[in-house]
Amino acid sequence: MDRVDGVSLVASDIAAGKPVVVLEDAADPAVGSVVCAAGTATAPLIAFTIRHTTGFVQVPLIQAHCDRLNLPPMSGGDHGGPCAGQRVSVDARDGVTTGISASDRARTIRVLADPHATADALARPGHVVPLCVPDGGVLRRPGRCEAAADLAALAGLPPAGVLSDVVSTEDRGELARRDELRAFAGRHDMRLVTVTDLVRYRRRTEARLIRSTEEAVPTQLGTFRAISYDSWPDGSRHVALTMGNLGDGQHVSVWLHHECPAGTVLGTLGCLCRQRLDAGLTAIATKGRGALRYLRRPTDEPDPPLTCPNRKGCQTEPRDGATAALILADLGIPDPLVGRRTVAEEEDTSWPHGIRPHRSTISTWLGSGRRWPRSRAE
Ligand SMILES: [Zn+2]
Repeated sequence: MDRVDGVSLVASDIAAGKPVVVLEDAADPAVGSVVCAAGTATAPLIAFTIRHTTGFVQVPLIQAHCDRLNLPPMSGGDHGGPCAGQRVSVDARDGVTTGISASDRARTIRVLADPHATADALARPGHVVPLCVPDGGVLRRPGRCEAAADLAALAGLPPAGVLSDVVSTEDRGELARRDELRAFAGRHDMRLVTVTDLVRYRRRTEARLIRSTEEAVPTQLGTFRAISYDSWPDGSRHVALTMGNLGDGQHVSVWLHHECPAGTVLGTLGCLCRQRLDAGLTAIATKGRGALRYLRRPTDEPDPPLTCPNRKGCQTEPRDGATAALILADLGIPDPLVGRRTVAEEEDTSWPHGIRPHRSTISTWLGSGRRWPRSRAE
């Protein structure tokens, strides 16, 4: 059975206390978890989860809740990997016996989700593993743990999830893979959502750019207007360089450039980024009207390499599509991928050495904005 359900329907089920399947489709191999909201955990729900999964039940929480409940990291150092973010295991201090039964674990999980609970309500170590996920959830780190907390929040509940990975019945000892997960969801009448779909949904409904500064920047090509944008939730700061009166945004020359210190700052010949940037700015200056979006990396990502990994230019990440589109929307320029061609697209063939401008892939990474064009995606 091939099923992937809409995020809003999945959130409705979570709000109603039903479990769902979250498929991490970008993982290799794609694996999935039974997920519910920690605030709705009951003995039957946790018993069901334990029966069909590894039984290793984790409770993703945001940093502020981990701090309030005094949940330090499980190990002294965070070395990354799939267990990064795990906090010291806990049991509810009251109302449990062994701590390991489904009813006891449900009780502990509800305490973890209780916004009024204090650190004293938990005994350490225990049988439930809290897991700290970054603020911003899947928009910061697209994984199943972040998805579990996000879905709880989308359901209107405290941002605390429950997840455990589904095991295979066909290949004993292994985790269930994509097709088996879909069959499992169908067999138990559970909705299934992919992490990618959740990212798309949140990008479309929540992603924000805040215009922060605006100033005139004189260059050899003329004076551009530089507008900087702070991006939520990744904290990066992007820049739009515009020239001329953009007016209603029709037939504006639009360019997209990805940060490449090696190419655009140091001028290395290892990639074509500098040529791309110069060509874009020159084209705008020649016409006297246009906009170039200079996208930078999230602040929590490692510095970009000093040798551009792709000679044709730094790759545009999927997330950049939403950012690029939000900047266009702020500038009042129609989205070239929703039916209107821009001058830039028509100019592609005139690029030297076969260079073509980056294209935003916003058809499925739409964010929201006051002047936002209607989405063609979900
Ligand atoms: Zn480069």
